[in-house]
Amino acid sequence: MIALVTRMTADVEQLWLAALSQNLPGETIVPFRQLDEDARQKVDIAIVANPDPADIARLPGLKWIHSVWAGVERLVSELGESRLPIVRLVDPQLSRTMAEAVLVWTYYLFRDMPAYAKFQREHVWQQLAYRRPEQVTIGLLGLGALGAASASRLKEAGFSVIGWSRSAKSLAGVETFHGEEGLDLLLSRSDILVCLLPLTSETKGLLNRDRLSKLPADASLINFARGPIVVDGDLIEALDSGAMKHAVLDVFDIEPLPADNALWDHPAITVLPHISAPTDRETAAAIVAGNILTYRSTGALPTTVDLERGY
Ligand code: NAP
Repeated sequence: MIALVTRMTADVEQLWLAALSQNLPGETIVPFRQLDEDARQKVDIAIVANPDPADIARLPGLKWIHSVWAGVERLVSELGESRLPIVRLVDPQLSRTMAEAVLVWTYYLFRDMPAYAKFQREHVWQQLAYRRPEQVTIGLLGLGALGAASASRLKEAGFSVIGWSRSAKSLAGVETFHGEEGLDLLLSRSDILVCLLPLTSETKGLLNRDRLSKLPADASLINFARGPIVVDGDLIEALDSGAMKHAVLDVFDIEPLPADNALWDHPAITVLPHISAPTDRETAAAIVAGNILTYRSTGALPTTVDLERGY
C-alpha cells in the first residue's frame, strides 16, 4: 500500500491522488490523513511533498520515500536519521522548465531590462552599448539535472558558458571547473552567475562577501536554487556599493518572503515568488509511477539521495 503524505490543501492533494492513481491502476494509494491504524501498518512506500516527519514516523513498514519535488534538503534534515532511502524527482520536463527560466532571466539581464525600466520611470532616453551573447559569460553553479539542461539552452542561445560542480564533469561546449580553486576561477569570469546548487552543509552561505567580491565588475546574480546559499546582507552590500549590478532572486531564507523584508524594495533586486521551475503534476506523476512499477517488478530502487552529501 502507498501513502500520500503531504502538507498540501485537501483539494490539491486530491489532484495528485488522481494523477498518481491513473498511472498506477494496480496500486492502492491513500492520503495519510485517511489511513487508520491498521492500514498504516501496510504502507511500504510513501509519496511525499513536504511531509510532516511525525506522519512518516507512524508508518512502521515503510521501505522508501519518493518526493515529488527536486529539492530534498528539508527531507534530509528531518528524516535523514531514519536512514530511509529517499528518492527525489528527476524529471526532464522540470529541467526544460528551469532551463527556460534561466534563459529568460539571463536575457532580462543581458538586454539591460532593469536599467531600461529605471530610465523609463525617470523619463530618460538613454541607449546602452550592445554586446553579442558570446561576449557575455554565464557561470553556472551546479551542473546536475537542472544545471546541465540550462547550460545547453544558454549555449544554443550563443552565450559563453562555464560551470562548476562538486566532482569533475565534462559537458559539450562548456568549460567546467570543480573544487575551491575552480570556484574562484569561475567567479572571476562570470558576468552573470546562475545558482542551481542543492542546499547542503557545504553550499549554505557559499555566496558570501568574499566570494561575491571575486566576480567581475558589474556582474549579476540569478539564484534559482535555495535562499540560504546566498548571504543576503553581503549581496545587498555588493549591490549598494555598485560592485554588482543586479540580482534576480526566486528563493529566500523564509518563504513566502515576509512583507517587511528589505529585498522587496531594493532597486537592484528582482523578487520572484519561487516560480522558476514548478513541478509539473502530469509528468511528475508518470515518473514517480514508473519508479514504483520498476521497484515492484525488480525490487530495484531508483537512484537515492546520498544522506551524507545531502543531495
Ligand atoms: P542535482 O542533479 O543533484 O545537481 C546538483 C549539482 O550541484 C551537481 O552538479 C553537483 O555536483 C553540484 N553540487 C552539489 N554540491 C556541491 C558542492 N558542495 N560544490 C560544488 N558543486 C556541488 O540537482 P538538480 O536537480 O539540478 O537541482 C538543483 C537544485 O535546484 C535543487 O536541489 C533545488 O534546491 C533547486 N530547485 C529549485 C526550483 C525552483 O523552482 N526554484 C525547482 C527545482 C529545483 P556533482 O555533479 O559533482 O554531484
